[in-house]
Amino acid sequence: MADAHPGLPEFDYIRPASLADASKFLADHAGEARPFMGGTDVFVRMRDGIWKDRYLVDVKHLDGTSDLRFDPKLGLTIGAGVPMNTLIASPEVQEHYPLLAQAAKTVAAYQLRNRATVVGNICNASPAGDTIGACLVYEGIMIVYGPSGRREEPLRTFFKGPGQTVLSPGDIALAIRLPIPPAGHAGRYLKLGRNRLSDLAIVGVTALGYPDPETASGFRFRLALAAVAPTPLVPDEAEKILAEGPLDKATIAKAAEAAMNASSPIDDVRGSARYRRLMVRNLTRQAVDLVVAELS
Ligand SMILES: Cc1cc2nc3c(=O)[nH]c(=O)nc-3n(C[C@H](O)[C@H](O)[C@H](O)COP(=O)(O)OP(=O)(O)OC[C@H]3O[C@@H](n4cnc5c(N)ncnc54)[C@H](O)[C@@H]3O)c2cc1C
Repeated sequence: MADAHPGLPEFDYIRPASLADASKFLADHAGEARPFMGGTDVFVRMRDGIWKDRYLVDVKHLDGTSDLRFDPKLGLTIGAGVPMNTLIASPEVQEHYPLLAQAAKTVAAYQLRNRATVVGNICNASPAGDTIGACLVYEGIMIVYGPSGRREEPLRTFFKGPGQTVLSPGDIALAIRLPIPPAGHAGRYLKLGRNRLSDLAIVGVTALGYPDPETASGFRFRLALAAVAPTPLVPDEAEKILAEGPLDKATIAKAAEAAMNASSPIDDVRGSARYRRLMVRNLTRQAVDLVVAELS
């Protein structure tokens, strides 16, 4: 029988002196070089023989990647190399982006969060990534350095499929920027896993709500679903139903049903597609209920 963990293969560790060098190296070695931050996905996949890169390019010491900055006008900039524990402990994250701290706390265990980064979680593009939903509902924008210089990529259009993003060889994610959240917002991340520690989500539901006098219900909601589609999923129809209101049990149940219908999960070791769909409905209802209770 094939060994599920054949062990780390030989590879060269590359530590470029500048972003330009890093980008050039990655572009010149497309298909055999990979950037990494915490390495908590990269080294596991290399060990398991899934990825076979010849070069691992350490990009976490490069320009601005270790910054965590809050600006009352621009919002929060999370450098790609900022470990999740640093983020969780930040008073500014706790005050202005509590949903992100809440979601990051559900990732594995404390030790892993000392290495794992939010940008790595996003670039890994697993549909089950726990911090992606919070970054989506906070309307995150990825700052990328590539062969043609710097550019911004909205998270909403960042994911192309499981493990696939808009990034091309030579692109390095520098930071994720989260704008100032809407006034009076409340949020919840509900994660269903097989145990309370160290497991990927069977289903994850992120809900953020805030007062909005322009909607019929008086509130607007942003939702994101994890582990129930090839990419992290925004259930637009459910958001629309909640905006149209009235914000009562029947409307919330209808929105939860719409979230379930938007999902297209698969069967895997963590749960069946049918179970996942039903859990999308139940967790969406619960998450929205909790947010509504906090907003009232
Ligand atoms: C035991 C264990 C438990 C886990 N539990 C969870 C969990 O509960 N929830 C969860 O969501 N995840 C979990 N994970 C997965 C992993 O820890 C997260 O996805 C983590 O956030 C990845 O961050 P990292 O910095 O380690 O990424 P890395 O491993 O460094 O990189 C991940 C991917 O992103 C790319 N990448 C990294 N940095 C950049 C960059 N700057 N520019 C472009 N591409 C880049 C890499 O090439 C790679 O494809 C677990 C992993 C392990 C080993």
